[in-house]
Amino acid sequence: MKKISRRTFVHNFGIGVGATTVMASLPSFMSLAENNSAIHDEKKLNIALIGLGRYAGYLAEGLQVSKYCRLAGIVTGTPSKAVDWGKKYNIPEKNKYNYQNFDAIIHNKDIDLVYVVLPNAMHKEYVIRAAKAGKHVIVEKPMAVTASDCQEMIDACKKAGVQLAVGYRLHYEPYNLEMKRLGQEKVFGQVRLIETSLGYNTGDTIDWHQKKALSGGGPLVNLGIYCIQASRYILGEEPISVTAQFGPITNKIKYAEVEESITWQMNFPSGAVSNSASTNNCGVDRLFASADDGFFELSPAISYGPFKGRTSNGELNFPEINQQQTQLDEIGKLILENKKLPSHITGEEGIKDVRIIEAIYEAAETGKKVSLI
Ligand code: NAD
Repeated sequence: MKKISRRTFVHNFGIGVGATTVMASLPSFMSLAENNSAIHDEKKLNIALIGLGRYAGYLAEGLQVSKYCRLAGIVTGTPSKAVDWGKKYNIPEKNKYNYQNFDAIIHNKDIDLVYVVLPNAMHKEYVIRAAKAGKHVIVEKPMAVTASDCQEMIDACKKAGVQLAVGYRLHYEPYNLEMKRLGQEKVFGQVRLIETSLGYNTGDTIDWHQKKALSGGGPLVNLGIYCIQASRYILGEEPISVTAQFGPITNKIKYAEVEESITWQMNFPSGAVSNSASTNNCGVDRLFASADDGFFELSPAISYGPFKGRTSNGELNFPEINQQQTQLDEIGKLILENKKLPSHITGEEGIKDVRIIEAIYEAAETGKKVSLI
């Protein structure tokens, strides 16, 4: 199989790149995304990024072309990054924080929202600190490493009267929205079987992803969460039980604390079954759904695109979008208008995935089917 690396998915942002035919069923947000070059004269939502690593870099680029949001501040523990990012993105000294003085952001009227892009186990602390500082929050996936942490984050944001979103970028991506529509509207009848997997060959590199105290788990929490999401949004149902199996460990040094690969199955109330794998030892990025009267699929399906898809009626052609920009603009616009964020991207959605992850780990550890009802 051709090796799929994370880097393979890094390029080709920009609306319209590679697009041929735009389907009539184009989701309504596309009109917004296509208009993003238009001038938005009013106030933009001022965002501070916490954790200036790899994914924060993509978000920063998305913010450069955002219509409704602006990169206004940074939080980093690395002084050289504060200098480099400050220069690159024109961030004033007063909007730069480190992990120790971060709480002083409460006094900074120039920051409206904090976007937490730290290792998974740090999400809870920084979401709660941001909420206490009166800032809206977006937190990257997985929302946290346990469901009880997620609940504390939801409660803290409610108490502070701020909104909490999870960075589910695919909820704004046209190919994935089409999968959701085809499944939930039963365009090809009842979906019976979903197969969806995500994996990257990460080689011998060891970082926080393999330290359980920071990551909460291996590829299941970092990649498999997208497969859980896709199954749930295609069916519009919550799984009632799961079974799961850890794969063999081929690199004992790297995978001393977390799984190298895992496969799992989810059973849904309608009788539909979803079968998934997530792995760090080979590349896979696909989504397939078989229904009574046909099928629909994407491959690549989950990464940063460009995506490719078809149904039993033919090829799908949607515009390629900048996923980070579109997600930020959709969230930013609602917050600027003082509107409630839709439930499918809030903390209440994030906690559902983390509960399922906990059940999948329990099933893999015990070898037993774990009930979710
Ligand atoms: P990364 O390792 O590239 O960046 C992590 C950042 O956290 C770094 O700037 C690092 O300096 C900082 N940090 C602070 N304390 C740390 C500590 N104790 N150990 C390690 N790093 C520490 O990671 P990333 O890939 O940017 O992932 C960050 C978050 O974003 C994760 O929750 C991940 O799941 C999520 N993510 C989301 C997507 C997406 O497509 N939505 C893609 C990649 C990552």
